[in-house]
Amino acid sequence: MNQTSYIEISKSAYKHNIRYLRKKIGPEVRLSSVVKGNAYGHGVNNIVPLAEASGIDHFSVFSAREALDVFRVASSQSDIMIMGYLSDDQLAWAIEHGISFYIFDFDRLEKAIEIAQKTGIRAKIHIEAETGFHRTGFEYAKLPHLVKRMKSHENHLSFEGLCTHYAGAESISNHYRVMNQIKEYRRFLRYFTKHSLQPGLRHTAGSAAAISYPQTTMDMVRIGISQYGYWPSQETFISQFRRKQANNDDLKRVISWKTEVMSLKEVDPGEFVGYGTSYMANKKMKVAIVPVGYANGFSRSLSNTGRVLIRGKRVPVIGTVTMNTFSVNVTDIPHVQKGDEVVIVGKQKRLSISISSFCEMSDLLNYQLLARLPENIPRIVV
Ligand SMILES: *Cc1c(COP(=O)(O)O)cnc(C)c1O
Repeated sequence: MNQTSYIEISKSAYKHNIRYLRKKIGPEVRLSSVVKGNAYGHGVNNIVPLAEASGIDHFSVFSAREALDVFRVASSQSDIMIMGYLSDDQLAWAIEHGISFYIFDFDRLEKAIEIAQKTGIRAKIHIEAETGFHRTGFEYAKLPHLVKRMKSHENHLSFEGLCTHYAGAESISNHYRVMNQIKEYRRFLRYFTKHSLQPGLRHTAGSAAAISYPQTTMDMVRIGISQYGYWPSQETFISQFRRKQANNDDLKRVISWKTEVMSLKEVDPGEFVGYGTSYMANKKMKVAIVPVGYANGFSRSLSNTGRVLIRGKRVPVIGTVTMNTFSVNVTDIPHVQKGDEVVIVGKQKRLSISISSFCEMSDLLNYQLLARLPENIPRIVV
């Protein structure tokens, strides 16, 4: 072990999730694997080949930088789509390499036309519609000019997709807003169709919409969090559960995070453990030192509150999490030894610790927790 901990990526869990999602969306809808944020912390290099082995041939990322990472590992048969940031230089790179990208303003449209004209290679574009999320996207009022520009450059542009993004399909409290977005999207679609512009792919849904609003799946869905085994929200899970289509096995977590006991120590009653005085032993205790700290993504706010698994038992973090270590109370584990496996996230025997137990009693999303798993922890596909 070069690093002090490692992350396991479960091939069987990933394949199971894709089969589950495939069953949900049906055989006809294309499934784009969203691998932004280093594949939600799982590692682009691990997930892209796994996805391709599961029949996926479309990948979505936020930036050109991320597209390059996918480009390096993906099969040449797979499509790559950039949903967010691109500089002008990168735009040329994307066009030359057949990588498609969102267009949400006229600057990017004109630049794409210019490069396509110069290189003689058609730019593959997805027009993003502003339907109520109010991040990026063309407003409906811009359509006359947009359509005019697209029609006069039909030789330079390939209209690969018409897309939008929902503002919170993971919660029923946004139902009205989402329904309005669906309506608004259809209005965009009608406008293009009326002007004889047919998008190759109509795509609007991320995980939550694909699961909760079947009418949003259209030609393609952009699946992020759920392929990694997480529900977009508790509500999405419960809505499935209520329809009796779900049980706990429906999505399986792909990531586990593990390390081992570095050292053991006996502490006498009245002694403090770690920095300061936040934890005092009230009896003779056995403490295991774990070689992971806040520099490795184990938040300091888990001091005296976190839990890990050792020898199939859940044990509490005691004292403060330091930069590279934390301590756990193993008094009740009889034969604990240096080198014993420590599960920070994942399963051991019959117990498991979910990534959301890092939520520190706060409202951090799975999304955020996954995205901030340090990139330098080795990932191993098992
Ligand atoms: C991140 C993202 C997705 C994927 O969302 P999940 O909830 O993780 O499935 C889809 N579309 C866009 C535009 C995104 O930014």
